[in-house]
Amino acid sequence: MAFKIPRGTADVLPGEVEIWQYIEEKINDLCRRYNYAEIRTPIFEHTELFQRGVGETTDIVEKEMYTFQDKGDRSITLRPEGTASVVRSYVESKMYGQPQQPTKLFYIGPMFRYERPQAGRMRQFTQFGVEAIGANDPSIDAETIALAMQIYTELGIKDLRLEINSVGCQTCRPRHREALISHLKGVQDQLPEEDRSRLERNPLRVLDSKHPVTQELTAGAPSILEFLCDDCQPHFDQLQAYLDQMGITYHVNANLVRGLDYYTQTAFEIMVDGIGAIGTVCGGGRYNGLVEEIGNQDMPGIGFALSIERLVLALQTQNISLPIKRHIDCYIVALGENAKKKAVQLTQDWRASGIRVDQDYLGRKMKPQMKSADRLGARFVAILGEQELENNVVVLKDMTTGEQMELNEKEAIEKIKTEVDKEEQ
Ligand code: ATP
Ligand code: MG
Repeated sequence: MAFKIPRGTADVLPGEVEIWQYIEEKINDLCRRYNYAEIRTPIFEHTELFQRGVGETTDIVEKEMYTFQDKGDRSITLRPEGTASVVRSYVESKMYGQPQQPTKLFYIGPMFRYERPQAGRMRQFTQFGVEAIGANDPSIDAETIALAMQIYTELGIKDLRLEINSVGCQTCRPRHREALISHLKGVQDQLPEEDRSRLERNPLRVLDSKHPVTQELTAGAPSILEFLCDDCQPHFDQLQAYLDQMGITYHVNANLVRGLDYYTQTAFEIMVDGIGAIGTVCGGGRYNGLVEEIGNQDMPGIGFALSIERLVLALQTQNISLPIKRHIDCYIVALGENAKKKAVQLTQDWRASGIRVDQDYLGRKMKPQMKSADRLGARFVAILGEQELENNVVVLKDMTTGEQMELNEKEAIEKIKTEVDKEEQ
């Protein structure tokens, strides 16, 4: 019987995996430049962490989690996002007590959501995200936004749109909530069932609805920005001033929300035109109530998450090819049994000295071996026959110039390295 991959998952095959590796290297490099340290948390956690940390009224918790009882009868959930785990770990390992603050962390790894799959929406997908915990200054909000934007710009992605908003805090939100509920009540009968049920429980989530009817009905709803308090207004103003200072273009979208109480102040999304029906490639925001909710420590935080799948989709949509090298430096062609023995040793030695080398494993003749060298994009071919063995040399052929030289092992290594280095300059 032939097995099929589960719905909503994907293999990343050789040929595409190099794109992923390139992106991952870019992420690592950028996080070093911005001074974010990597954290690795488990793929599964206690279900309650996500119920608390993501929120009972969210799509994720209401319908998207992979939850099961383990053999010890604990309720376990495959992580649907990264922030809750990072905050759990931050509190559990008492990072708030470390002298250097804020704590700046990043993660990259698989997340699981039971979604209806489409391009850019998977059941297993890979998120990269950052969390900066312990600072409330808008300059760190600006920094996380800048980092997210830079991932896309350094990969050459165009037509980015950054939208920002402030969702206020415990002081300004109740006033907005009241005005919002009274607006929504006016159109209550027209609201789709799902959003009507959210009206009282979590009216902000109604603004976040994907339903076109709801989107139309909420277009004229009172904006949170009219209700910002004396902390949130200057915070939002300063964030914009910092973004201006950094030369980052943004649009204020008063309808951009994160629907839960522990999300505060800054919310942002990055969109790329034309990547299927989705558009949004990255989302983030401030969560000054979350650390308290999860771990009883009153610490402000901000972060974002983006998926590599949607990043790759954006690259494909915009026909961007990354500068990826797949070739090897040298292919060793061995003719005859004795030469094969020598080839095994040379392959080993040259790899140890840093050269990308491969050889024939099928006992083939000269011609098919040369073909392999060609297919693998080998810059050099080292040919070993009886004659060369006797003279303790190899015939090194430069495949770009066609030039052939008889060299001893040491000379061959040097020649290959010099030429490859030149190419990589
Ligand atoms: P959407 O509105 O597209 O469902 P979301 O609000 O669920 O997104 P977040 O939970 O904020 O998204 O996740 C942040 C980012 O993670 C998204 O912007 C997207 O890049 C990525 N992402 C979320 N869900 C998926 C998925 N199912 N498949 C691939 N990427 C995803
Ligand atoms: Mg979603």
